[in-house]
Amino acid sequence: MRQTLTLFESFPGRTQPTDGYWVRGGSCDQCASGGIPGECCTKLVFPVNPTAARNPDLVHFWELHGIEIKWWGDLPLAIVPLRCQALAPNGDCTLYDTPERPEICSTGPLNPWAGKPLNPACSYEFAWSSILK
Ligand code: SF4
Ligand code: SF4
Repeated sequence: MRQTLTLFESFPGRTQPTDGYWVRGGSCDQCASGGIPGECCTKLVFPVNPTAARNPDLVHFWELHGIEIKWWGDLPLAIVPLRCQALAPNGDCTLYDTPERPEICSTGPLNPWAGKPLNPACSYEFAWSSILK
C-alpha cells in the first residue's frame, strides 16, 4: 500500500522544499531480512542541532554516553541505543492491540530517515515524489 505522508516535514531541520513530498510504501515485516527483529524498537532517534553535531568535543561527550551521531544528508541524528521494554525477543510488540501501545507505533516510520538509513532491514520504502512532474 502506498501512502502519502503529509503530516511531517519533508526535510526535518532544513528549509522546506516546495517541489514535492515523500511517499511511503510497504508495510512492517519486523525486519525479516535482517538480524535484529523489530530493530526500530531497539533505539531512539532524535534530530539534533547541526552546530552541536559539528562540535567534536560534544560528539565525544555524547559517545561516552553511548549516543552515536549519524548524518542523513545535512541532518544530524542522535542514535540512542535504548530497547523498548515492550519488545519481545522475536520482534513482537507485547502491547500490540492494547490501549497501552503508543499511537506512533501504529503509524510506522514517519520520516524517511527512520526507514532504511537507520534500520537497514526495514521493509518500508520511501520515495520522493515531485509535484513538478
Ligand atoms: S510499544 Fe511496541 S511497537 Fe512501540 S516501540 Fe515498544 S515494542 Fe515497538
Ligand atoms: S525497522 Fe521497519 S520493518 Fe523493522 S520493525 Fe521497524 S518498521 Fe518494522
